[in-house]
Amino acid sequence: MAAEVLAESGLQVDLYEHMPSVGRKLLLAGRSGLNLTNSEPIDEMVARFGPASPVCDAVRSFPPTALREWAAGLGEPTYIGSSGRVFPTSFRATPLLRAWLASLAEHGVRMHLRHRWLGWGIETDGTPDPTMHRFRTVGGEVTEHRSDVTVFALGGASWPRVGSDGSWVPHFRAAGIEVAALRPANCGLHIEWSRVFVEQFAGVPLKNVRVSAGSSTARGDVMVTDRGLESGPIYMISAEVRDIVDRDGTCTVTIDLHPDLTRDAVIARLSSRRPKDSMTTFLRRSLGLSPAAIALLREATDNELPSAPITLAPLVKAVTLAVQSVAPIERAISTAGGVSFDDLDGRFMIRRLPGTFIAGEMLDWEAPTGGYLLQASFSTAVAAANGAIAWLAEP
Ligand SMILES: Cc1cc2nc3c(=O)[nH]c(=O)nc-3n(C[C@H](O)[C@H](O)[C@H](O)COP(=O)(O)OP(=O)(O)OC[C@H]3O[C@@H](n4cnc5c(N)ncnc54)[C@H](O)[C@@H]3O)c2cc1C
Repeated sequence: MAAEVLAESGLQVDLYEHMPSVGRKLLLAGRSGLNLTNSEPIDEMVARFGPASPVCDAVRSFPPTALREWAAGLGEPTYIGSSGRVFPTSFRATPLLRAWLASLAEHGVRMHLRHRWLGWGIETDGTPDPTMHRFRTVGGEVTEHRSDVTVFALGGASWPRVGSDGSWVPHFRAAGIEVAALRPANCGLHIEWSRVFVEQFAGVPLKNVRVSAGSSTARGDVMVTDRGLESGPIYMISAEVRDIVDRDGTCTVTIDLHPDLTRDAVIARLSSRRPKDSMTTFLRRSLGLSPAAIALLREATDNELPSAPITLAPLVKAVTLAVQSVAPIERAISTAGGVSFDDLDGRFMIRRLPGTFIAGEMLDWEAPTGGYLLQASFSTAVAAANGAIAWLAEP
């Protein structure tokens, strides 16, 4: 996106990518329909990026409406899904990326694939030369390329096999730029299940539950995995779980297996057990709990389920699980941490490296899933490119 904005202003743009093709993470996101952005009001959207984050200004300047117009301009009109999430009508990333690459070629953007950025050239006094970039090319050969202005968009460190692996971090730190540690965001939670539970329920969803940790709470379907729990509601609470685990070494996560009923309503339903009903039959009949939900209750109580409604109901409303770790960054949807905004000016330029601009997940922000990640990546790219154009125009 930065390349497009720069090229449209008449600049010659060279785009360097270490993979054999560009946009691999966009294609990965396309596998689940490519949730480009979100239709919620702009004030609600910017609140997702934390108070007064420079990302908010970028999103206001290049908002969801602009992103949707841009996609439509590439032949990929968008629609609003039931949850307010915005997708291309094709529900895929491939046609969008294909049209986009054709448009970039028309604008004269030169692609340099299999070029891995290795850092800046170094001046004789040991400081980085922001106009000189070192790349390793396909044969292992190291080449240097000069630029008048540079926009970095090297991503975070999630799903490294599609390209972004955080290898830029040591180079930035060596240049004296503050980079907050890259950490998993929108990630699964690790829970030590019993072997019996994993064998029977890994891959089975807990339908329509509410998960909570600290002050975070989310509702929906939660997937049991062999390592713990995954899926949308888990991603929603994962940032707070990660922070609590980092601080305390463990975090308590609770699951409300019947969020539509109050505790008293659960007690009432549990108060008419027929003598011949097994506990499993009773829980299924009275509350409609699935086999996975009932097994989770057993798992969390070491198979010592109380029979008294007054004791059983609080368990149904809050199955308590201890989380000692979150999924590693390699398996996370996105990355928290990155280049500190303290080292950037309002145009997304690194103050100590004039002419060097940063966009996307390289920056120190995080947001939930729901289209916010791509929206912020596109918006900061537009902001960084406009910053670069303005900087070049300065006397
Ligand atoms: C499975 C999955 C599904 C997702 N689905 C969605 C979704 O539906 N909606 C949403 O909003 N977000 C989604 N995201 C997140 C979204 O894809 C990212 O937030 C977004 O792609 C970040 O954009 P970026 O340009 O900052 O980084 P990236 O898209 O990661 O691009 C960085 C590029 O830099 C290249 N690179 C890295 N290091 C070097 C180097 N040293 N030299 C040269 N090139 C380098 C990489 O190969 C890569 O092509 C998803 C993420 C994952 C993992």
